[in-house]
Amino acid sequence: MEFRQVMMRRLILLGAPGAGKGTQAQALEERYHIPQISTGDILRAAVKQGSPLGHQAKSYMDAGELVPDSLIVDLIRARLQEPDTEPGWILDGFPRTPVQAEALDNLLQELGQSLEGVVLVDVPEPVLMERLVGRRTCTVCQKVCHVKFNPPPVNGCGREDCPHQWVQRSDDREDVVPTRLAAYHRNTEPLINYYQAKDKLHRVDGNRPSEDVLATLTNLLGPVV
Ligand SMILES: [Zn+2]
Repeated sequence: MEFRQVMMRRLILLGAPGAGKGTQAQALEERYHIPQISTGDILRAAVKQGSPLGHQAKSYMDAGELVPDSLIVDLIRARLQEPDTEPGWILDGFPRTPVQAEALDNLLQELGQSLEGVVLVDVPEPVLMERLVGRRTCTVCQKVCHVKFNPPPVNGCGREDCPHQWVQRSDDREDVVPTRLAAYHRNTEPLINYYQAKDKLHRVDGNRPSEDVLATLTNLLGPVV
């Protein structure tokens, strides 16, 4: 494992479903006070606020169409100019393709910002499989547990205000997960190559306890200032 101390505060987090990316992003957000910016969240927020961009996005979503890259870039442009992004940001879910990565490069140049690194939380396929297939989600509070690693308590999941109905989400089914993972790899490989060619990619071994993964990530990001 190679460590380059670069004081990353503007970064992209990549990882397959089940790689633990969400958990790590949340921990980094708390530690460094840099917001995690997910395309899904921005879209939902814009639609909810009823902003002009939100209205445009909603018309695509209502029609069951993909929101075009240019509109996503406009939303990210607005988001990256909000004051809480001053200390840095973690992009999650964008870019997804090399074309989007180029659009992001252009946007950041326009904003006078730079992408300091791309972190790939790397987890072997069989481990992802086991993590996803064993996952159970409470249909009421959306809490997640795992049949083997974090078994649901017999009498509820710890939240007293919830009846806790554990189910396996349809996209965590054993017959669906391989397709999901194959799609992830197919879509993400070109992006990984793109950032590797720019010498921005950091691979982090995600097949470890989450606190160990976090330790490696904080090593990459540098000390809290
Ligand atoms: Zn619950």
